Amino acid sequence: MKHLSKYAKQLSKFFEVSNSILIISHINPDGDATGAQLALYHYLVAKGKQVDMMAPNYLQEFLKWMDGSSLVNVFIGNKRKCRKLIETADLIVMVDFNQPNRLGEAEKPVMRSVARKVVIDHHLDPHNIADLIVSYPSMCSTSELVYEIISCLENNVPLSSPCAEAVYTGIITDTGNFEYGSFTPRTMRIVADLLETGLNRERIKDLVYNNFSADRMRLMGLVLNSRMVVLPELRSAYIYLTKADLEAYSYAKGDTEGFVNMPLSIKGIVFSTMLVEKDGFIKLSFRSKGAFPSNEIAAGYFNGGGHLNASGGEYYDTLENTVGYFLKVLKENIGRFIYE
Ligand code: 5GP
Ligand code: MN
Repeated sequence: MKHLSKYAKQLSKFFEVSNSILIISHINPDGDATGAQLALYHYLVAKGKQVDMMAPNYLQEFLKWMDGSSLVNVFIGNKRKCRKLIETADLIVMVDFNQPNRLGEAEKPVMRSVARKVVIDHHLDPHNIADLIVSYPSMCSTSELVYEIISCLENNVPLSSPCAEAVYTGIITDTGNFEYGSFTPRTMRIVADLLETGLNRERIKDLVYNNFSADRMRLMGLVLNSRMVVLPELRSAYIYLTKADLEAYSYAKGDTEGFVNMPLSIKGIVFSTMLVEKDGFIKLSFRSKGAFPSNEIAAGYFNGGGHLNASGGEYYDTLENTVGYFLKVLKENIGRFIYE
């Protein structure tokens, strides 16, 4: 990996001279954001460093089993404490994002902080928001990148168990349990190393994937039955969910996770979108197959971004108007993205 040892050494110097390190993940932290955050946390704490963690908003239920997750301070849950952590940190490490708006309400205090800042991330086109940006978009997950940094610094000494579990969780959640094309032969070698630490992969798979509520399964039924619109001529499909739908199925955070992938199982569909009605805006998630750049739709039309095949954004209008706008955008762009 190009320059990795150079970056690792630089990071190691920053860690050494810092007395108060704050590791921050992005808004709506997913398994990779929390995995990378916890892996780095366990590593640095074992080195005797003073480390705190913060997320802009609450962790998802399916990640709360992770060792150390209860130590993540939630900005919107305790702004006073979090502002203090931001003010007193001398090193802020931002993991799994590279745009300031991914900090949600914490954007201003974090960006204004005089602490030295580092980004460790695997998304495309990092914004210039830190003193050191360690960016590897070719990696399937930020957790994999954290693993690479630690192994570089520790000469491949195996990770501690909480650290290994955090890295593994990040890798499986960002690759859809090794379903999407984003992992590499190197990822599998890392997974082999993690398994050799004695990591219980079946337990983790169960904790991450088999802990849904009955309500969530029924909501999935609703989605597939009557909230999925298939547009074969555009090789696309979309799912929409109203606030009333979510309320009717006692929505809990994380319940819609994975729904957007489902239409890609339909023969011929290469682009899938989920639109979810939130307070005052619509959250959109995009998934695509092959060379279809879902992130161009997200960044170009929905104030968002992300990866080629997995991206998201938001739109400030009613659900009905957003669906109308989305369809217009799709029809205008589909010819550019589908060649065969
Ligand atoms: P999800 O659909 O699972 O919420 O997000 C998939 C990916 O899209 C995330 O890993 C992230 O990279 C990106 N993403 C989702 N929402 C947004 C957004 O509002 N802004 C940006 N820049 N990226 C997003
Ligand atoms: Mn990620």
